[in-house]
Amino acid sequence: MRRMTCTLPAPADLAVGMVGVPKDADVELELRFESVMEGVLVTGTAQAPLISECSRCLESSTSSIEVDFQELFFYPVESGLFQTGEEESVLSGDLLDLEPILRDAVVLALPLSPLCRDDCPGLCTECGIRLAEAGPDHRHEKLDARWADLGKLMEHNDNDQEG
Ligand SMILES: [Zn+2]
Ligand SMILES: [Zn+2]
Repeated sequence: MRRMTCTLPAPADLAVGMVGVPKDADVELELRFESVMEGVLVTGTAQAPLISECSRCLESSTSSIEVDFQELFFYPVESGLFQTGEEESVLSGDLLDLEPILRDAVVLALPLSPLCRDDCPGLCTECGIRLAEAGPDHRHEKLDARWADLGKLMEHNDNDQEG
């Protein structure tokens, strides 16, 4: 068994929607290599910085992510000992290509709807200002005329149903 820690630059497109690891950011890896019969079992932890855009107010914020992963790298088929499927990771020489495994682990762990904070009030639907900055008293007294008309229509419908 071998342990190793290293820091590698993040690959491009390590992101989903509004959240991701910036390209070339430091990804800290802690890896453990175990020799098993079929190949090498790699168990690891990766820590990386995250930049996300709040899905409610679009404010960017930074945080970090930590993911665990495990992958069995098979010895090459040429060794004649084992057959491997196309999907499986294969050892090429001494090099393990960890990028796809890291990518899978990170992408799965990313939040689908990141928020700058749990109770982010989002944007004002009227003027688009960030409500967190505008304060709780921010509101617009005047209703848009079209919405006011719609309100009347709905009242009317209610009366019909009652009758
Ligand atoms: Zn927000
Ligand atoms: Zn507003």
